[in-house]
Formats: sequence, structure tokens, C-alpha cells
Amino acid sequence: MTGRATVVAVDGPSASGKSTISRMVALRLGFVYVDSGSMYRAVTWKALESDLDVNDTVQVIAMLHRIKIHFDVRNHEAQMLIDGFWPGDAIRAPRVAEKVSIVAAIPEVRQVLVAHQRSLTRFGDLVREGRDIGSVVFPNTPHKFYIEANAAERAKRRQKDFAAMQIEASTEGVAQALAQRDKLDSSRAVAPLQIALGATVVDNSINPPERTVEIILEQIARQQGL
Ligand code: C5P
Repeated sequence: MTGRATVVAVDGPSASGKSTISRMVALRLGFVYVDSGSMYRAVTWKALESDLDVNDTVQVIAMLHRIKIHFDVRNHEAQMLIDGFWPGDAIRAPRVAEKVSIVAAIPEVRQVLVAHQRSLTRFGDLVREGRDIGSVVFPNTPHKFYIEANAAERAKRRQKDFAAMQIEASTEGVAQALAQRDKLDSSRAVAPLQIALGATVVDNSINPPERTVEIILEQIARQQGL
């Protein structure tokens, strides 16, 4: 329990399959699903739409203080709206993916988004995915998971996501971009990607998602003494 709400933290690198797994776990438990990566992506998208250089930290922070952030829950998923607008799939575009780790490494951006993330327990019990959910955002939850998958499998998954959005990308290009993002996310000073203390590590390379979901649900039931 975190306050009165139960929080399931699912961390891991990009394209490890954690979104699919987290959505399925949320559905099975009847919890609201929260994708924290989409929040960092939405802020990055807004900066790019505003023609900002994301390396200009002062400008990005000034923008962050100008915009109004608001959350809605639709179909059991929390959505972050910026100035009343939800950018949808635009946050998945390669131009956003290329820059998001730079924006996510700015301490002020993390401070603001972490405060918003914590406030989402007002919507009830949550399954939350990200990089720092078990280590920073909700370190007291007993339900912490770290999803990993091998590099080839992750590149394959991300390429499939792009194909679904009619975006062409080579396997090598996708693998390189993921490796670059892992490097930035794991080496940043504030809240780097890491396995949170007490997290259960689940390898999602081989098993079908249904099996990974079962492993997580069994562990939560054990932790809750069910
Ligand atoms: O999960 P996704 O690939 O959508 O995350 C996009 C980026 O957002 C990550 O590469 C990382 O830089 C950032 N992120 C973060 N902390 C989180 C979730 C995502 O820094 N909790």
C-alpha cells in the first residue's frame, strides 16, 4: 500500500515489453494504468512543437512553468494533457524518442513530473511503468518489478511499433537508438534507470506476455498474503 492506494511499479528499459505487460496486469487487477514515459515524451513533444532547443535547459524549464498539465482517466488509463490537449501518438515519433532522454535528465522536469505522478493515487490503485517508479516515485510499495529483454528482442519490438505507425526504420538504426537511450537513462545523475531495491526481475525475452503477467500476479498475491 502507498497511502490508501496500492501501487504496482513496473520499471525497465525501452521496448522491454513493459507497456504491454503493465496494461495486462492493470486490466487483470482492475487498476488504472499509468505510463510515466509518456509524460516525459509529452513534455519533449511540447518543447519541439515550441521550436525549443532541448539542450537549452533554461528554456525547457521556463516552458514547463508556462504550460498547464492536467490528467484524465480514459479506458482505465491515465492521460496527460498539456494546455488541454492530449498529443496521442505524436509522442511516439522518432524525433521525440531521440530527444526525450535529454529532457528527462533535467532535474526540474523530473521534480514536476514526479509530483504529478504521486498525485495520481487520487484515481485509485495503480499499475505504473517507468524507469524510477520503484526506486524514486513509490519506493515504499512492496510490489516492484523490473522487466528486461535482450537487445535483439527489444529492437524487434520497437521496429514493430514503428511499422504500426507507418514509420520506416532499419533494425540497426532502432537497435542503436535504443542503446543510446539506455546509456543516457542509466548514466544520468538524477533517478537513473536501475533495478529498485527489492524488485523482482523478470526476463521478458522468451516467455509470451501472458506468462510474464502470471509471474507478476502470483508474486503480488504472495506479497499480499493471498
Ligand atoms: O518508456 P518510454 O520509452 O516511453 O520512456 C521514454 C523516456 O522517458 C525514457 O527513455 C526516459 O528517458 C524517460 N523516462 C524517465 N523516467 C520514467 C519514465 C521514462 O526518465 N519513469
